[in-house]
Amino acid sequence: METTDQSGDAWEALCQRCGLCCFEKFEDETGIVFFTSTPCRYLDVVSRQCVIYDRRFTINPECVKLTEELVRELNWLHDECAYRRALGLSRRPGRATAASGRQKAKEPDKNGKRK
Ligand code: SF4
Repeated sequence: METTDQSGDAWEALCQRCGLCCFEKFEDETGIVFFTSTPCRYLDVVSRQCVIYDRRFTINPECVKLTEELVRELNWLHDECAYRRALGLSRRPGRATAASGRQKAKEPDKNGKRK
């Protein structure tokens, strides 16, 4: 099992600010997670930056601090998340097709255009 230094900046620096975790998602009755095209209200969909990043946990109680333990547990974190990759967490079978296929079809790209 890979481990990383979770202390503050080193862990935080792993995040690539891709914004993939900042879209609403839902889980069906079989446990498949679907990513929607609805971003968090505080996500700038063009830059993929959180506009309240430094105060996100105060302003938005739904925002989750991604610790190593949490990243290992969460079933909704995107397979391409830099935290997952840094921890050596493999792609989940059956998930890539269902989740990223939907995401590719609906999430806006870096220019804010819907695919
Ligand atoms: S999906 Fe992972 S790498 Fe991308 S913004 Fe979220 S925490 Fe950062």
